[in-house]
Amino acid sequence: MEDIAPALLETLRKRFLQHLEGNARAAELLEAILAGKAGYEEAGDYAEAVGQALAGAFSTITGADLPDGRMYWNIADRVVRPLLEEDHTMVSDAAVQVQKALNQAAGLGLQPQTVPVDSEKINGILNRLDAAAAYDDVAWILGDPVVTYSRGVVDATLQANVEFQGKTGLQPKVVRRAPYKCCEWCSRLAGSYTYPDVPRDVYRRHRNCRCVVEYDPGSGRRQNVHTKQWTEPAEDVTILERRLLGLRVQGITVQKISDHVRQRMTERSVPVEDIRDALENPLQVNPARYDQEGRPSIIVVGRHATLAINPETGVIATCYPTHSKTRKKLEALET
Ligand SMILES: [Zn+2]
Ligand SMILES: [Zn+2]
Repeated sequence: MEDIAPALLETLRKRFLQHLEGNARAAELLEAILAGKAGYEEAGDYAEAVGQALAGAFSTITGADLPDGRMYWNIADRVVRPLLEEDHTMVSDAAVQVQKALNQAAGLGLQPQTVPVDSEKINGILNRLDAAAAYDDVAWILGDPVVTYSRGVVDATLQANVEFQGKTGLQPKVVRRAPYKCCEWCSRLAGSYTYPDVPRDVYRRHRNCRCVVEYDPGSGRRQNVHTKQWTEPAEDVTILERRLLGLRVQGITVQKISDHVRQRMTERSVPVEDIRDALENPLQVNPARYDQEGRPSIIVVGRHATLAINPETGVIATCYPTHSKTRKKLEALET
């Protein structure tokens, strides 16, 4: 018997892309997304357009195109699966672009997270097609459920990014709105949720659900998961570091900052301004001492911060707040 799958796939793919290209709104949305001017609502609308275009292509299949009028697994697997995967790729690329723009707008130097194709969901669709004695009885599965599947890619991307950011100590929010008075379940889910208190259902939707699910970076403040201290989002550590590199104290040029110092700067337990002030206006610089491993360090006492610097490598190894008694004593000596 003739293998109809390759030709059917090509025909459907052509129709899918034609539908999508013919949708001016989809092109507009994609343009805004690529320009970094769109949020998750637009990504959801774009996903809807892609899903509609694909469902439109699927709607041209009838039982008459299929052997025995059935969508056997081996056909569905080579026709429906690759197209659902293409839908995923298009929508995922758009959603990631949106997250990237949102991260930048919030001053977060974080990579947007992507989600893999949900093969289980696709298998579920294929199973139902394969199980039906007549394709025409289940053709609807390649209608609205495809649109819901497409929107699901955006929801999953949002979820992955919220959870990723939450784990780095941020407190992102998820805002779900039901502007179309969807149903009681959706009305109850509407609201603003702060990570980690986000019920999983917030990221879910039933068939034909057009609820809007959006990401909000929250305050953008970051809580250190260990110390529970907060930092401000603008304090990108590389920017902080750049404010110190190249400064000189006692003929030593600062070349590097240890992880310990980096952490104290981002936590603001020792702010960068204090370290800078110590380097520029030291109250006292102690001659080099050697630790147990023979590494030299000089101690620079500033008004608010005290630093240990390796004079050979220019690395600021540690820092801590200057004790107020020490400061008063040294300031008294100065005058
Ligand atoms: Zn609903
Ligand atoms: Zn809904």
